[in-house]
Amino acid sequence: MRREQVNRTHRARARKRGAPGAFTDVDVNARLIRQGGKCHYCRAPFRLDTRFQIDHFIPIAKGGSNHACNIVLACPDCNQRKGDKLPHEFMPERFQTGCLRDC
Ligand SMILES: [Zn+2]
Repeated sequence: MRREQVNRTHRARARKRGAPGAFTDVDVNARLIRQGGKCHYCRAPFRLDTRFQIDHFIPIAKGGSNHACNIVLACPDCNQRKGDKLPHEFMPERFQTGCLRDC
């Protein structure tokens, strides 16, 4: 799946759930650089055969937006395990309640 298709899928899902905002390929690329090419959660480097997935840091189901400021990139394993959990529910050893994305 091309990245633009991924973004469209996210936008469509976010719209359906009533989440405001949208992000672009430029936002995703900036995020990829900001994260040093690593998963936001386990920090494993993304490789060609483990493509990153786009995660809503605060899940849309829990009031998060679809704005670029709520987007992080995660490996498929972390993204699947996080699901609709809040960051501190997913990784309590790393994120406090109400934790900001980049701490
Ligand atoms: Zn990961």
